[in-house]
Amino acid sequence: MNLKEALAQVRARLVDAAVEEAELKSELLVRHVSGLDAAGLFLAFERDISAAWSAHLETLVSRHIQGEPLAYILGRREFYGLEFEVNPFVLIPRPETEHIIEKVLQLAGNLNTPSIADIGTGSGAIAITLAANLPGSEIYAVDISSEALEVASRNAFRHGVASQIIFLHGDLAQPLPKAVDILVANLPYVKSADCAGSCEPHMALDGGANGLEIIERLCEGLDGKICPGGSVLLEIGLGQAQAVMAMLKRAVPSAHIETMADLAGIERVVWGKFF
Ligand code: GLN
Repeated sequence: MNLKEALAQVRARLVDAAVEEAELKSELLVRHVSGLDAAGLFLAFERDISAAWSAHLETLVSRHIQGEPLAYILGRREFYGLEFEVNPFVLIPRPETEHIIEKVLQLAGNLNTPSIADIGTGSGAIAITLAANLPGSEIYAVDISSEALEVASRNAFRHGVASQIIFLHGDLAQPLPKAVDILVANLPYVKSADCAGSCEPHMALDGGANGLEIIERLCEGLDGKICPGGSVLLEIGLGQAQAVMAMLKRAVPSAHIETMADLAGIERVVWGKFF
């Protein structure tokens, strides 16, 4: 069997199993096992593959058909144009989280050396993307999981922004040594009952019975963590906007609060501006 035939076989296996995006995924899997980029794969189509090679590919295909996310199998996922190492200790970055990035870039554009905190950094996708796009910024990346911080730190080195980011191990905003201009957080916001069966770390998804317990704890601990004129941006799930706006308002009564929708029209970010 050659690479072209292996690719066709993987695609057929994924299509038969009703896996979405079979075309793209079969190419990513074959490229992963062969170590080739898209152009390299095309040029190597006629190259024969060994039995061990195709057995390894088959193992990866089966893992995905059984429900393991492709990002964990490949060990990486793209976010805002950068590639991030991911493993089962961290949430897989989602495209909807890019809305937070857009908003922070807009807000930070007016500041000389913006200080930014990413609470619950996970793979570091938010903190590192911001560091890469805001070279003058000073960033704190906090997580309660030391395994996640190891992944985030490797990602920071990989993208050449390690010197701009201070990694802090601890609970929510508590480890921040000073108030910041912008605090962002994609905290767990899924109801406990809806987390069962997910391959992703429940620590990164499970927001308690109502999904909002951790966001609420963050809001309650914001005192002294945001500079005057600063902002808080919180990613939220479907139907959570009113409750989260109320939590933020209760914690910081003077805040001006708005929501921002994602491309699907779902209110995805709660933005609080502090005075
Ligand atoms: N967007 C993720 C999901 O719905 C949840 C991420 C989170 O809890 N922060 O699976």
